[in-house]
Amino acid sequence: MAEIDYNALPDADFRAMVREFVETEYPQDMRFLSRRIRMDEARPWWNKLVKKGWIAPNWPRELGGMALDPGKMVIYLEEMERHGVMRAADQGITQVGPILMKYGTDAQKDYFLERTRTGDIIWAQGYSEPNAGSDLANLQTSAVIEGDEFVINGMKIWTSFAQESTHIYLLVRTDREAKKQKGISFLLIESDLPGITIRPIRNIAGHEEFCQVFFDNVRVPRDRLVGKLNEGWTVAKALLGHERLNIGSPRRPQYALMRLEMLARAKGLMDDAGFVDRFVAIKLDLEDLASLYGRYVEQVKRGEPLGPDVSQLKIWAMEVWQQLTDLLVETGAEDGVIEGAHDVAGVELDFLAPFYYARPGTIYGGSSEVQRNILSKYVLELPS
Ligand SMILES: Cc1cc2nc3c(=O)[nH]c(=O)nc-3n(C[C@H](O)[C@H](O)[C@H](O)COP(=O)(O)OP(=O)(O)OC[C@H]3O[C@@H](n4cnc5c(N)ncnc54)[C@H](O)[C@@H]3O)c2cc1C
Repeated sequence: MAEIDYNALPDADFRAMVREFVETEYPQDMRFLSRRIRMDEARPWWNKLVKKGWIAPNWPRELGGMALDPGKMVIYLEEMERHGVMRAADQGITQVGPILMKYGTDAQKDYFLERTRTGDIIWAQGYSEPNAGSDLANLQTSAVIEGDEFVINGMKIWTSFAQESTHIYLLVRTDREAKKQKGISFLLIESDLPGITIRPIRNIAGHEEFCQVFFDNVRVPRDRLVGKLNEGWTVAKALLGHERLNIGSPRRPQYALMRLEMLARAKGLMDDAGFVDRFVAIKLDLEDLASLYGRYVEQVKRGEPLGPDVSQLKIWAMEVWQQLTDLLVETGAEDGVIEGAHDVAGVELDFLAPFYYARPGTIYGGSSEVQRNILSKYVLELPS
């Protein structure tokens, strides 16, 4: 497999190849899950992707990646999403790998890259803190240099799946005197070091998907610093570029719409003018979103960078997804508020899981309010 130059294939052939693989290899009962997937569940699929050489689509060939160009990368992600393939804890692949390739020392690359690719090392992202979420540069967890070590004290929060991680990539304050964005450093540390306490947080749906992580005099060697001391902000920001395009994809709301339509037909609601009015309005909104998404995809395929206007895509996708899952629960009426999958008018549906799953979408990856600030400042050039 490694010999194929994927970028040289016609787009349609490459798409068909990815589609065939996911359709035959991805477990049917894990399609379009209504919650984030845990690593122990995702492991067999991860291993299949590793074996095929497809786990790291954005990495270069010599490091076991597919070296996809932006156009092929979009196709790869689209086919995964279209089939409802869940994203495993892939922050090592999407974030840590590229960061190390750009800023890591040879020793860091040698140690971490291959283990990250195979999934022997699973990364959690230790960025957010209380009072340092949207305003990330306000982070206070400190790392003080003592001899050959950093000594870390503080707290992180909303750290996705920290309880399953083997390592955390961490932003810490290493200079209290400097301006907010300066004086921050980027460290790679084990999750089980003495002084680290990981406390899972149970969300409203009853899942423990994220954690609080406490650091009490945690000692790590100085060679765990990535990039230069006090320049971690540059390292951390280097990669946020395409996230808004991926989160802005219309696939998840489209899937919710499909479920809503099935339910409405089963309940005879397609003859109810009031319901049809709402259904059509939201469907048209979603069609518009899909066409806007297509425009951004074309931009990426042409190799053009995305501008700040892509924020509108993230806001739109998450808001329409929430409206759809609201309507799904409402349409389910008394059945809509019962936990778990159950049969309604002959259709097997879980109403509350997608409803809960859509809630945090307007928060993570940059909240809707913050995205609106970006649009008003950089696109509309309104006074701040
Ligand atoms: C499911 C999920 C998973 C996450 N996983 C991780 C993870 O793995 N690692 C990690 O580090 N973080 C993670 N996060 C944290 C996430 O990045 C933050 O929640 C997010 O950045 C918002 O920060 P906050 O929660 O501190 O809210 P705050 O920043 O306190 O914001 C509270 C409210 O005020 C609004 N607001 C804030 N500033 C402004 C402003 N300037 N103008 C207008 N409105 C404003 C916000 O939009 C929001 O509505 C996760 C969050 C969620 C929901």
